[in-house]
Amino acid sequence: MSIAVESPGLSETQRQIVELARDFARTKIEPFAAEWDRTRHFPRDVIAELGELGFLGMCTPEAWDGMGVDGVTYLLALEEIAAADAAISVSMSIQNAIPTTMLVKHGTPEQRERWLKPMARGELLAGFALSEAEAGSDAASLRSQATKDGKHWVLNGTKAWATNAGTADLMMIMVRTDEPDRRRGAKGISTFIVPTDTPGYRAGKPEDKMGLRASNTATVALEDLKLGPEQLLGDEGMGFVYAMEGLDAGRLGIAIQAVAIARRALELSLAYCAERRQFDRPLQDFQAVQFKLADMATRVEAARALAHLAAARKDRGEPATASASMAKLFASETAMWVTTQAVQLFGGYGYMRDFPVEKLFRDAKVTEIYEGTSEVQRIVIARSLSGR
Ligand SMILES: Cc1cc2nc3c(=O)[nH]c(=O)nc-3n(C[C@H](O)[C@H](O)[C@H](O)COP(=O)(O)OP(=O)(O)OC[C@H]3O[C@@H](n4cnc5c(N)ncnc54)[C@H](O)[C@@H]3O)c2cc1C
Repeated sequence: MSIAVESPGLSETQRQIVELARDFARTKIEPFAAEWDRTRHFPRDVIAELGELGFLGMCTPEAWDGMGVDGVTYLLALEEIAAADAAISVSMSIQNAIPTTMLVKHGTPEQRERWLKPMARGELLAGFALSEAEAGSDAASLRSQATKDGKHWVLNGTKAWATNAGTADLMMIMVRTDEPDRRRGAKGISTFIVPTDTPGYRAGKPEDKMGLRASNTATVALEDLKLGPEQLLGDEGMGFVYAMEGLDAGRLGIAIQAVAIARRALELSLAYCAERRQFDRPLQDFQAVQFKLADMATRVEAARALAHLAAARKDRGEPATASASMAKLFASETAMWVTTQAVQLFGGYGYMRDFPVEKLFRDAKVTEIYEGTSEVQRIVIARSLSGR
């Protein structure tokens, strides 16, 4: 049995997309991932190539220059990229999910022409900035502010931990548009489309992270950043709703990223246990080792199935918020558990930077934190169970 997704059961289109993504991942990403991790190098050229292949606009309708594929097919491709390097896949995931969903659902025809089409063609890289230092899980308590200056908006504040903030061409930024003395909670937040070369946009130095080290994560200072009315997305005061819609899609991407990290750890563990000998036999001959590998494989399959189920529900237009949270919760905890087992199976070598399971272990952790922590996913799931 194969741990990766194999052809039987896939449509012809899916098979071709998986092959294209796997080939790209294995030749253009995997051989360099350890070095990028060590040097914290964000390979913008590789991201551009992903864009040229259409992987940065996979779910964008063809009318707006995207591939127009369904969510399951998108996850199949993303898994291949993430199995090679989760730090690269996070850019692909964010672009396809959050800014794209926002523009597809709420952009004006002019905004789609100006931003969505070049994003889908891979010419522009996008990110989103919701979190602030004091507003993470409770994102609706954010404080960055936009005030009106005639027809224009002027943004001030600081966003935290924004992926691609220092490398993107545009960011979707959530700020308050309600009056400081008349706060309206989540209803007082709006989304703005902000080109990163706008005066007053300043990305901080890249964060020095535990994992995903090749990915750019930075604070964003908004300093009297002036925007035209055409840069407001959708309706004033609806920005938080748009962010949550985007996160439904985003969480599926993070779920499959976690599946990919776990799958890679399992593939490496299988190869290592076949080769490594102790007590005159390969590790794989010990039943305790076999049981560990069996449990790892079972969890990888279950996590992938849950992610695909949630994507299929979303594709059918069914409510999928709780499904996406379940998929992200289960897959991220699977990634952490499987990579922990992998390090254990590699023994002392597993603890060394020279062996790839150490990176997978570090990369896995963030999947339990970003786009909503595991606790936040449990809150979302519990709320859906009680019908709230
Ligand atoms: C590498 C990386 C990339 C990121 N990229 C982005 C990005 O592109 N855009 C963006 O906007 N943000 C991004 N983030 C931010 C990320 O979404 C937040 O870190 C995350 O939402 C958690 O917020 P926090 O760090 O403030 O933790 P806190 O909210 O302070 O939580 C701390 C702990 O308390 C727990 N907790 C909080 N509230 C509750 C509760 N009600 N019940 C139980 N437990 C609770 C949390 O689960 C967590 O364990 C990124 C973060 C990282 C690390």
